Amino acid sequence: MKNEPNISTQAVWAGERDYLAFGATQVPVVHSVAYGYDDMDEWYEVAIGKRPGHIYGRNTNPTVQALEEKIRLMEGAGAATSFSTGMAAISNTLATFLRPGDTVVSIKDTYGGTNKIFLEFLPQLNINVVLCETGDHEAMEAAIAKGCKVVYLETPTNPTVKIVDIRRLAAAAKKVGALTVVDNTFATPVNQNPLQLGADLVLHSATKFLGGHADALGGLLVGRKDWIEQVYHYREINGATMGPMDAYLILRGMKTLHLRIERQNANAQKIAEYLQTEDRVEAVHYPGLPGHQGHDIAKEQMRGFGGVLSFAVKGGVETVRDFLPKLQYANRAANLGAVETTVGPSRTTSHVECTPEERARMGIPEGLIRYSAGIEDAGDLIGDLQQAFASLA
Ligand SMILES: *Cc1c(COP(=O)(O)O)cnc(C)c1O
Repeated sequence: MKNEPNISTQAVWAGERDYLAFGATQVPVVHSVAYGYDDMDEWYEVAIGKRPGHIYGRNTNPTVQALEEKIRLMEGAGAATSFSTGMAAISNTLATFLRPGDTVVSIKDTYGGTNKIFLEFLPQLNINVVLCETGDHEAMEAAIAKGCKVVYLETPTNPTVKIVDIRRLAAAAKKVGALTVVDNTFATPVNQNPLQLGADLVLHSATKFLGGHADALGGLLVGRKDWIEQVYHYREINGATMGPMDAYLILRGMKTLHLRIERQNANAQKIAEYLQTEDRVEAVHYPGLPGHQGHDIAKEQMRGFGGVLSFAVKGGVETVRDFLPKLQYANRAANLGAVETTVGPSRTTSHVECTPEERARMGIPEGLIRYSAGIEDAGDLIGDLQQAFASLA
């Protein structure tokens, strides 16, 4: 009997073998936009999907397909498809399954761009959006039981790293015949596999941890084959296609995903514990802290608590303005999940699309700092935070 390889072995090997043309040990980057055929019957069979092959780059590309195959195997899914960005994965998935008059149930704490889709774009299409208090599972279950087409979850959330119970809400969705979609960007398949918890579709901003080097944009979606085919069809026509160079960079990044995540989990835990002892810190949010709202659920459904935490400093936005520029080992930037530590307040990162009032309604104070731990030495990162706090007036 063949054992399923461990996720670290998959990160290195999975999905690549069929794409290693010319004896290459690394997946070639195929930039060709179109694929030529001398045999008209063969061309036709590829075009109608009767035979494997490629026709046109908006539809499929071998380098991109190798990446799709890797995430498919790492999430244990039937099929996978890809997009130009994480937001394209989200918008194309929602657009595939929602029609005017349908209802989608989600949480208030989704990623800022996702929240904009819920508050601005879906209502324009006459789609009902019900956003529940994140972590209020009774309210979620009640909203789902009223009937809906899609249950959309994100856990841990951005930026306050709240946890929702995937197994529990996927079960509620199943009862009313709704699809459960989970944004697994923060956890990655190393820390969490939502399909094994009952979710139907799992998506990623590959721009973040999967790529891991802040040099490529991409989105990925995995799930049952017939659902993935529907979303793929929407994407191939609407055109939010991932480029081959981005796919290659993400593929290369994913070879070290397990090593990076192990280190980032450990660094985030140590930093969260340190921040709790710091006088200038008002609150620390990290699911690895026993006092965290979702710690027990996280322990159940995750293998590690992730590389992202957030904390609120006393003195709000004024303190943030003084404090962040003093950090030596952190990019002050909008992304997360990179090998370098990345910091920023929500109003310029995850929730830049929202107004201050919208952020306040979501419980995101203007002085909240999101901290995405890199793979540096934990002692150096803590020392860096200490010197920055010490230099505050
Ligand atoms: C960044 C992010 C997205 C959007 O991904 P892009 O690649 O920037 O479009 C979606 N969800 C989460 C949780 C994210 O952090």
